Amino acid sequence: METEEKNQLRKIIHIDMDAFYASVEQRDNEEYRGKPIVVGGPHEGRGGVVATASYEARKFGIRSAMPSKKALQLCPHAIFVRPRFAVYKEVSQQIREIFSRYTDLIEPLSLDEAYLDVTNDKLNIGSAIEIAKQIKQAIQDELRLTASAGVSINKFVAKIASDINKPNGLKFIGPSGIENFMELLPVEKFFGVGKVTAEKMKKMGLHTGADLKKLTEDEMHRHFGKAGRFYYQIVRGLDNREVQPHRETKSMGAEDTFAYDLTTLAEMNAELDKIAVTVANRLERYQLKGRTVTLKVKYSDFKQITRNQSSAAPIADLESITATAKQLLFTSFEEGQKVRLLGISLSNFGEVILRQKQDKQTGQLELF
Ligand SMILES: [Mg+2]
Repeated sequence: METEEKNQLRKIIHIDMDAFYASVEQRDNEEYRGKPIVVGGPHEGRGGVVATASYEARKFGIRSAMPSKKALQLCPHAIFVRPRFAVYKEVSQQIREIFSRYTDLIEPLSLDEAYLDVTNDKLNIGSAIEIAKQIKQAIQDELRLTASAGVSINKFVAKIASDINKPNGLKFIGPSGIENFMELLPVEKFFGVGKVTAEKMKKMGLHTGADLKKLTEDEMHRHFGKAGRFYYQIVRGLDNREVQPHRETKSMGAEDTFAYDLTTLAEMNAELDKIAVTVANRLERYQLKGRTVTLKVKYSDFKQITRNQSSAAPIADLESITATAKQLLFTSFEEGQKVRLLGISLSNFGEVILRQKQDKQTGQLELF
């Protein structure tokens, strides 16, 4: 019985709200509908980034995590809206409530994205496609928002699938379709493949899943490290990661593997500058601040060290992250070392910071 259960194919749904923050703003403000809306930080001065752009704004090339200044250049008549995270959080809970009618195995990835395991759904509907349809309908009817859903037998394929017919899409990739689907998939779409890895793959003549499939597991490992083994599995449609309810974000960061080993502190600092920008953008996007900065260094002989430093106050700003990471690097640096990878992450978040400020007179919460 137990083995039978283990061999049973899982039914996984990945739900992703369409242009979430922007859609909520368009829903709540009639004058924003049909217009290019950019939700994010201010475009004057420094630091503002795009959190979400409406589909009308995306037509101009505006994307999430892009500096707001650049967004303004691309679309001078875009309407910039300050995020109302308290509202998004509330809507997110309403969405979660809809999910919970069907399953308790819900793994939120962010406010607007979650995995659901509906292998044994509460209503005995049985069909994951039908459940995805009902969830989309409920989100539309009750919240006046649209979501896209991907349905498959594992997390990776479900997540890729939800992106295929966006917005308001529903895509099912069944067991018999996975192999073909994976073979056609461009390498940069594979989970965990960043820009550097994708470039490296392309230089090796690996452009699609079908190309990756030609490499043995050992070859994958040799070229791409530990991640290579994961790619080896995933290109064959194998992903056993479970849907983990109540998963909390414990750390957030970014790392980069270099095409050439770095040997000087100057080179490494220059890379840290770039990585820190990605980290700061991610933190801003998820509205997180952390007390602990961790630096990861991997050497050409695959040895790896991590060094961390904690501060009294939580930080999320680029300058503090960069300065701390460079300090950590400086104290661990030794002449002659060849560095292959650098990473920066923040952890020790406490609670989500919404940057709310209580107005003393009205008692109302204000953002920023
Ligand atoms: Mg989304």
